[in-house]
Amino acid sequence: ILLTRMNGTLSTIYALSSGQGKCGVAVVRVSGSAAIEALRKMTNLTNPEPRRAFLRKIFDPVTRDVIDKGLCLWFPGPTSFTGEDSVEFQVHGGSAILQAIMSALGKLKFRPAEPETEQQRKQALLQADGNLKKLYNNWKAILSKSLAHIEAYIDFSEDDNLEGNILTITNQTIKDLISMISKHLADGRKGEILRVGVRTAIIGRPNVGKSSLMNYLVQRNAVIVTPIAGTTRDVVELNANICGYPVILADTAGLAERTQDIVEIEGIRRAKGYAKHADLIILMIDASSFVASQLDFPEYLKNYINQLEMSEIISADNGLSRNCVIVVNKTDLIEEEVKKELRKIEAVSISCTTEEGFGELMESLEKKFQTICGNPSREDPTISQARHRTHLTNCVEYLEKYLEMSSREKYDMVIAAQQIRNAMRELGKITGDISTEEILDIIFTSFCIGK
Ligand code: GDP
Ligand code: ZN
Repeated sequence: ILLTRMNGTLSTIYALSSGQGKCGVAVVRVSGSAAIEALRKMTNLTNPEPRRAFLRKIFDPVTRDVIDKGLCLWFPGPTSFTGEDSVEFQVHGGSAILQAIMSALGKLKFRPAEPETEQQRKQALLQADGNLKKLYNNWKAILSKSLAHIEAYIDFSEDDNLEGNILTITNQTIKDLISMISKHLADGRKGEILRVGVRTAIIGRPNVGKSSLMNYLVQRNAVIVTPIAGTTRDVVELNANICGYPVILADTAGLAERTQDIVEIEGIRRAKGYAKHADLIILMIDASSFVASQLDFPEYLKNYINQLEMSEIISADNGLSRNCVIVVNKTDLIEEEVKKELRKIEAVSISCTTEEGFGELMESLEKKFQTICGNPSREDPTISQARHRTHLTNCVEYLEKYLEMSSREKYDMVIAAQQIRNAMRELGKITGDISTEEILDIIFTSFCIGK
């Protein structure tokens, strides 16, 4: 069970990969961009040779207590079992040792991998099928063919004017490829969010019921609920599986208007900071003070958002500007008249006390998660790792540079062609390398010179 306060660096995960036998060896794996830190801080290994087993003392990074002596391995991405930078510890399988290792990894602010949710499983299946790899390899093939054409053009253009045509066609191919990659990049980070979890912030004034809702959504009493305003003072993140989607749910300090308490002021600053970067905001409102005859909800909402100083994050002027679910809580305390009014607006009315309205709330959350994560079994494969996004963005930049260079009146085609090679190398970093032989192969097979 995970109950930690984290600052959002959740991308490096760890998990027990082997069974937990009474004796024998247990394997703990760490995967993600910060994985190497586990070796550095728990074994003092720096610059380890990849895929080699080192027998080391493994210690707690904070207390420096030795936990066990075991084998440590370093697998740099993308050729590791997860495709990311990974570290493996092979330790004695006793539960005390495993607990100590897991706790040590937790101290490095890594996230324990939870069992996959249904939607994550679907995505993993598609990736195992190699849908993404197929796509990137296909792009790499297009580039390597284009490069072969450009190189042939460089070598033979003086002899044959017809080759100019080939350059026009090749440049068009590259333009088309740029649009394809750009479209792939503009996926709203769906795959990444699905892999890591939808960051969802519960935001509202103190005492509206944020912690109560959080406890309901994670299905246990994880956070303290009291009638005292200002109980939750920091962002508390918890992992939850909601309708099959992985969600990182954050309970935040209530946004009080005037407070002198410095801890509360800092809590509010963090709440707003978190909300700004969240994938989804649940904006909570307490209905208990509503009077039917005076209820102008759109006006109320606008004022509420302004009072919370959230108008930059959720604009209420032309509808809501970002992914947001408005939840009106404590319907058990209001009159039937008010309930009728509330049914007319685009908000979900619930009571954390009676659990009234939770079916509707789940439906509307599921719809939001669907839009944010996409449907991995129906849509094109989406980028699932931040690292891949960086390489794809670099790739596009190189291709644009190539086009820019080759459109100049006077240009050096050899330097321009180098941009294509750079672009290919970026794709190669995702899929595994590309060799010069591969290029030569294409020059001599798919491009018939001299005909
Ligand atoms: P937070 O400050 O926004 O996190 O609010 P809490 O979840 O701590 O709840 C504040 C108080 O309101 C507590 O005393 C809760 O028991 C109470 N409360 C929460 N939800 C409801 C509800 O739906 N109906 C009623 N009557 N009380 C509620
Ligand atoms: Zn609270």
